[in-house]
Amino acid sequence: MARESVARDFQAGDGERVAIVGGGLAGCLLATLLGRRGIEVTLYERRPDPRVAGPERGRSINLAISARGLAALDAVGLRDQALKRALPMHGRMVHPLGAGQNFQPYSADGERAINSISRAELNQALLDAAEATPGVTVRFSQRVTGVDVDAGLLQMQGPDGPVTEHAGVVLAGDGAYSAVRRSLASDGVLDDRQDFLEHGYKELTIPPRDGDFALDPDALHIWPRGTAMMIALPNLDRSFTCTLFWPKTDFEALDTAAKVRAHFETHYPDAARLMPALTDDFAHNPVGSLVTVRCWPWVRYGQGSVVALLGDAAHAIVPFFGQGANCAFEDCIEIDRLLSETEGDWARALSLYQERRKANTDAIAEMALDNFIEMRDRVSSPVYRLKQAAQHAIERRSAGRYVSRYELVSFSTMPYAQIPRRIRRQNQVVAAGVLAVALLAGLATRRLRRRRP
Ligand SMILES: Cc1cc2nc3c(=O)[nH]c(=O)nc-3n(C[C@H](O)[C@H](O)[C@H](O)COP(=O)(O)OP(=O)(O)OC[C@H]3O[C@@H](n4cnc5c(N)ncnc54)[C@H](O)[C@@H]3O)c2cc1C
Repeated sequence: MARESVARDFQAGDGERVAIVGGGLAGCLLATLLGRRGIEVTLYERRPDPRVAGPERGRSINLAISARGLAALDAVGLRDQALKRALPMHGRMVHPLGAGQNFQPYSADGERAINSISRAELNQALLDAAEATPGVTVRFSQRVTGVDVDAGLLQMQGPDGPVTEHAGVVLAGDGAYSAVRRSLASDGVLDDRQDFLEHGYKELTIPPRDGDFALDPDALHIWPRGTAMMIALPNLDRSFTCTLFWPKTDFEALDTAAKVRAHFETHYPDAARLMPALTDDFAHNPVGSLVTVRCWPWVRYGQGSVVALLGDAAHAIVPFFGQGANCAFEDCIEIDRLLSETEGDWARALSLYQERRKANTDAIAEMALDNFIEMRDRVSSPVYRLKQAAQHAIERRSAGRYVSRYELVSFSTMPYAQIPRRIRRQNQVVAAGVLAVALLAGLATRRLRRRRP
């Protein structure tokens, strides 16, 4: 894909009207960051105000937020508030079929944790922060339907019918199925590739048992089952939200309550015992899709405006590294940083934004797909556990020179694109070390043999 990043014709003047499409996690964070810079922003959100209407059904209920997300929340003063309402998970609790559960810490020192946070609460905290920022206006029930980049017009469907508004800068954080991305792709300039997994996901619940958590709340629970996998994250009300990942056709085959119960009792017996509402949840909760979005370019310049995609709208990824929201937050921080670097030159800032972020989002997209195989297949194997224990042992002795991929992704803010390179280098050093030890041991044995009469 050609990486054209020329700011054609567009010149943003002072007081240029800035529109953000989508009041999700990224849209609200970006509105707050821009408002703090003294930029007037209007945020258009398709849904009614979730603080009045309640959260949408069918979206993931909780999220794992880690170092990147926390760093971004820190930038708007929300880190501590988010952590107070989060449950730390220090490792995976793996539930193999027919064997006891085993705990695998996420970090070599066992101290580091990812955080289970309610998506609805986090979104509301970000929405409150955006609305409280001078210069930010939030407009709900405004479904954006398209953009006219040359005319600098944003088309939307409001409660009273179609509306068109002018905006010199449009920042689209309207999610994986972005209407703005679709609109930009309609003339063939934007290459919009969406790769769907054959797997879908369905959320189920493990309620509290006798007023307490039914499973260890300090872990992300995984039931690896080859082509299927179930995970569970703890909630503050002491329930767990389980997510079953399974080929969509298999979901369809479980079409009676008896089949659902029998399937879970066979494949997830320990969890099934803790799920009194299983058949009801299974019948009523939707099957969501899992998509990787790879599109380019993210930024389009017209004569009177510039439009940029961010978050899932630019690069939705599968959820197996728990990084989609963390990564979307990083986009916002990068845009904010580049506005400082370019002294408020939108055209240059957005051009640099896409250049700097693309390799990183491509890298996490690949790592997330790879982690699906790790989670559903490898984590229950004794060889994997041995390897992980060895990795952690090396890590403890290496004073920061050897760090696992999981830790670099989840507990650092190292650009994602650097992580695969760093892992390759580390592995080469370890392999060379193992070879050297083997050679020395071989030499020593030979010498000993020669000395013997
Ligand atoms: C099952 C599952 C589990 C996940 N778990 C994790 C996790 O543990 N950790 C993690 O970091 N990430 C996770 N993710 C990914 C994470 O949810 C997304 O990456 C994140 O929500 C992206 O934020 P966003 O703001 O770009 O998009 P969204 O959060 O999707 O927000 C988009 C917003 O735009 C609005 N909108 C949509 N269309 C329009 C329109 N036409 N006009 C106006 N508004 C519109 C929507 O209503 C919404 O408010 C998970 C995803 C899934 C599917």
